[in-house]
Amino acid sequence: MADTSATPLRPLPEDWSRALFVVAHPDDVEYGAGAAVAKWVAQGKTVAYVMMTSGEQGIEGMTPEVCGPLREKEQIASSKIVGVHDVRFLRFPDFTLENTPELRAALTEVLRDFRPDIVLTLNFRGSWGEGFENSADHMNAGAAVVDAVREAGGGVRFIAAASSPQSGHAVDVTGYEDVAIASLREHRAYLEGLGGEAESLTMIREGLAAAGKQFGSPSAVSFELIDVAGATRA
Ligand SMILES: [Zn+2]
Repeated sequence: MADTSATPLRPLPEDWSRALFVVAHPDDVEYGAGAAVAKWVAQGKTVAYVMMTSGEQGIEGMTPEVCGPLREKEQIASSKIVGVHDVRFLRFPDFTLENTPELRAALTEVLRDFRPDIVLTLNFRGSWGEGFENSADHMNAGAAVVDAVREAGGGVRFIAAASSPQSGHAVDVTGYEDVAIASLREHRAYLEGLGGEAESLTMIREGLAAAGKQFGSPSAVSFELIDVAGATRA
């Protein structure tokens, strides 16, 4: 894993108007990256979310049949807080998500329909840094996003993976911390299942501050940029 702690982050290009944020689970955007989304929506950009699963295995003691629809509802409420009203659920299996041709085909269809300038996703490297391992769902999700963008063709300029330990870029989100936190809090049943919201809210604040320290602002969201132009030629 690259040690990025000594590497200053560069500004993420923001001269685009449409972004598709594609993640494995409801709540994946809300652990920090939602601050950047809120800022972009405030600038007049259009952002839509795609959830590959409905997070139906995510609450202990709740059956998938009850959990999935509940988490979809919570995600829709959460997205509204940051100004995102287009949320699409692909309903692939939570916890056993694989980068399959079926998943890539579903993603390709959304990409061709929404026509984003950029595609956002969550860290899909093996760890979050500092020894915290990433989950298989997140790693498979990111791999599927990269493959699908390549397969879909079109005008996607770059893919940016939030909170990657290999981040080289960031967005200043100073002033958007509270809206990010408010959006996470809409995942009420999920947070209750974790035993309360306190730890999650602290995690967001600390994450935004840590990226900000690297970027030179009070708060930031870091991103690893994946060059699509190279990938589409492959
Ligand atoms: Zn997740």
